[in-house]
Amino acid sequence: MKIVKIDVKTVPISSPIRNAYIDFSKMTTSALAITTDIMKDGKPVVGYGFNSNGRYAPTCLLEERFIPRLLEANPKDLVTDDGSNLDPHKIHKIIMANEKPGGHGERAVAVGVIDMAVWDAVAKIEEKPLYQLLADRYGTGKTDDKVYIYAAGGYYFPDKGLTELQDEMKGYLDLGYRDVKMKVGGASLNEDVKRIEAVLDILPKGSGLMVDANGRFDLDYAIEFGEKVKDYELIWYEEAGDPLDYHLQAELSKRYPHAMATGENLFSLQDATNLIRYGGMNPEKDFLQFDCALSYGLVEYLQILDMLKEHGWSSRRCIPHGGHQLSLNIAAGLELHGNESYPGVFEPFGGFADRYAVEDGYVRLPEVPGIGFEEKSNLYDLLLTIGK
Ligand SMILES: [Mg+2]
Repeated sequence: MKIVKIDVKTVPISSPIRNAYIDFSKMTTSALAITTDIMKDGKPVVGYGFNSNGRYAPTCLLEERFIPRLLEANPKDLVTDDGSNLDPHKIHKIIMANEKPGGHGERAVAVGVIDMAVWDAVAKIEEKPLYQLLADRYGTGKTDDKVYIYAAGGYYFPDKGLTELQDEMKGYLDLGYRDVKMKVGGASLNEDVKRIEAVLDILPKGSGLMVDANGRFDLDYAIEFGEKVKDYELIWYEEAGDPLDYHLQAELSKRYPHAMATGENLFSLQDATNLIRYGGMNPEKDFLQFDCALSYGLVEYLQILDMLKEHGWSSRRCIPHGGHQLSLNIAAGLELHGNESYPGVFEPFGGFADRYAVEDGYVRLPEVPGIGFEEKSNLYDLLLTIGK
C-alpha cells in the first residue's frame, strides 16, 4: 500500500474569549488529509488530523518540511513489514529525520497533525475504532466503555460578570457534565476568589471545580493564590506557573496541599520526563495533561506512558488537554483518567460524536473505524473540504 497524496489547509477557530495569558481572537488550526490507495466500500481510505486547541496552525512547517519529507520517502519505509498498513512508528522516524533534539516548539505541533491522520488511517484500514486498536496493540485488549470528561470553560469575556459565569456553569451541568473548570489569573486575586465562590455557590453536591491559571503566576503569587483557595476542595489547581518552570512547580507542591495538574504545554517525552523528575508532582494525587496533538503525536505519547510507568505513575493520572477525539480514543483504549472537553468552544474541532450526550460527566465513543470524525458532522463536513 502507499500514500497517494497529503492535503492541508489552515482553518480559523477564533473566539472572543480570553484566559490569564492570551486571547483567542486570531487562533487557527491546520487540518490535514492523508489519502491512501487502500479501498473500502469503493472509496480510498483517508486519514484526517488537526492540531489541538489554543495554538496556531503550523501549515508552513507541514508544507515546507514535513509533508515533502514523507512523500519523498521510499513508500516501503512507511508501511508495516507485510505492507498491509501504514506504520505510525516508522513514519514518525522518517518525519523526524534531520531534526535536532530539543527546541520543540511548533515543530511538535506540526508532527502531531500528521500523526493524528496516520492513526485515523491505520484504524480505518484495520476496520477498528482507534480505541480498540490501541487496547489490542498496547493495552489489555479491554476498553473503557465510557470516558470521564469535564467542562473546561469559565473564560474571561468582555462584560462577563459573576451571574454570567454562574449561568455558563449551570449550562454545562444541564448538558450532563458533573465537574467544571474555570480560568483564573486574568483578574485580581480578590476578584478571582469572588468568581470561584460564585461558581461553587451553584454547584450541586457531587460536582467539583478545577481552576486553571494558564502559567500566569510567579512562585510568590502561586503560593499566595494556593493559600487563598486551599479550603475550597478544588479538584485541581492547574498550570500555576510557566510550564517549563519545574522549580516553581516543585516549590508550590511543598506548600499547596491538594491536587495539582499541568503538562499541556510540555511538547516532548524529554519535557514530560523533566516534569516527573524535577516538578515535585505526586503520583498519588496529581494529574498530567500532556496533549499528544501538540507534542509529536501518539507515537511520542506512547513513549510518555512508558516513561510514567517506569517512574511509578499510573496511566489513570493522565487526563489530556485539548478536548479532541484522538485523546478520547486514547483515554478509552489505554486506561487514562479521562479527557478535557470544551462545550461550545473551538467548534468544530472540540467535542465528540454527535449521537452521544454527556451523562453524569461521562461520554461514550462510537463503534466506527478510525478516530470517529465521521460521527461528528460539523467537523466531518469541514474535513471533506481539505484539498478542495
Ligand atoms: Mg489548561
